[in-house]
Amino acid sequence: MASFSTQNCRIEPLSTFYNFSSLVEVLRLDLIHPLVSGNKWFKLKGYLKEAEEDNKNSLLTFGGAFSNHIVATAAAANMKGFKSIGIIRGEKPSSISQTLQDAAGFGMKLFFVSREFYKQKMLPQEVLDTINVDELYIIPEGGYGKKGAEGAEDILTLSATSSYTHIITAVGTGTTLAGLVFAALPHQKIIGISALKNNFSLQPQIEALLSFAKQQQFSLLHEYHFGGYAKYNKELIQFMNNLYAATNVCTDFVYTGKTFYAVFDLMKQGYFSSTDKILIIHTGGLQGNCSLSKGTLIFGS
Ligand SMILES: *Cc1c(COP(=O)(O)O)cnc(C)c1O
Repeated sequence: MASFSTQNCRIEPLSTFYNFSSLVEVLRLDLIHPLVSGNKWFKLKGYLKEAEEDNKNSLLTFGGAFSNHIVATAAAANMKGFKSIGIIRGEKPSSISQTLQDAAGFGMKLFFVSREFYKQKMLPQEVLDTINVDELYIIPEGGYGKKGAEGAEDILTLSATSSYTHIITAVGTGTTLAGLVFAALPHQKIIGISALKNNFSLQPQIEALLSFAKQQQFSLLHEYHFGGYAKYNKELIQFMNNLYAATNVCTDFVYTGKTFYAVFDLMKQGYFSSTDKILIIHTGGLQGNCSLSKGTLIFGS
């Protein structure tokens, strides 16, 4: 497996490439590992630790066919010597996605269940038949939960981040954002760009992970989903290609491309003042680009 290190992370300037009125920099979590998506490792580590402490030998989690969380869990399990099981939403397709092939390559056993069954987050009988449930540790879908958020707090300690006034991240379950809010200093505001369309239950879902005092320190923007989760259009792809050409930063079309787009759009709208200092968290996810047809992006994932 390719080298894995949180020490690969660094902060890079973005505003030097563009005529932004405020300082904009990027924390490159995407440099941690090509398949263990930037933020996923942080969300997983608390669960892995608990699984170890409880003497579990198998990790099980839930996700879709292109889930960064599935492949990250498979890779982390492989690295830490756990067996792993993925419960995958939807019937088994005739050709299985690159994401799931990668997960299987890390030794994850995949079980496909109908969308209706998946919603219940239950274990199919064929899993129960093959495993001793006492040895099983279940990680919630997307790593959502307090343990996931606690791990994500460490993202802000990788580099000196105290001078930033705004910290911006892509949002799926909101677990990463909750961790950033936990770790943020009082003068810092966390802005989340939702990758899902009209996912207004995010607000209470994130608040549930935070103390009351911290619940005022973040805001969610719902206008940058480009049609919904994993949807995209020419404008987004063009933006991602232009960003790469100008800065060498690769983004993915599900999460980070939309987040960077949002920052550029907010800049244009005058959302920030000239004294603001903005840090974009590049949460990784580049493996997701392998579901795009070849030649769509000018960079490899
Ligand atoms: C999973 C993922 C997210 C969303 O993280 P949450 O903690 O679920 O909000 C954001 N960016 C990338 C690249 C991801 O893979």
